[in-house]
Amino acid sequence: MGFITKAPICGVCLKSGILCQGCERKLRENKISELDVKVSRVLFGLAQKYRGMNAINFKRAIDAVGLTALVVGRGEISSIIGKGGKLIRELTEHLQTKIRIVEEGADIRKQAQDILTPARVLGVNILYSGGKREEYRVRIPRTHVRRLPASIDAIQSIFAKLTDKNIKLVFE
Ligand SMILES: [Zn+2]
Repeated sequence: MGFITKAPICGVCLKSGILCQGCERKLRENKISELDVKVSRVLFGLAQKYRGMNAINFKRAIDAVGLTALVVGRGEISSIIGKGGKLIRELTEHLQTKIRIVEEGADIRKQAQDILTPARVLGVNILYSGGKREEYRVRIPRTHVRRLPASIDAIQSIFAKLTDKNIKLVFE
């Protein structure tokens, strides 16, 4: 199976253009999304081309306007970025959006940095406000606003879906 060892759809569905009953049910029950299916198949196709690459576990994809985050297993970012970023360039072409790769279970600061690159994350502050849900403030240098990969709204929406936390970008 090339370098994809795990995806939201099964091995049979990776190779075929249709979904088996099991995967179809997962889609219907919103356990996986149409985007997960699409990205799984694109990755599988690329895996046929780049057979020498390390195995990756593709978990899910999260998208917003102009930006898609792909969640992979721990320590797998370098496997998917690959030599000279060829794989990412092809993924970007296939999906027609900017791509960022994040690792499942990484801390907020690391996930934020992986999404916001090439903008730099100075730090993450947690704001507790009596009884309400805490707010995570991802601090970015004001001069790096132009380096953000998408609009602030799009990025915050990806953070929310990714972490299930209330995350805001702040500039200083
Ligand atoms: Zn299937």
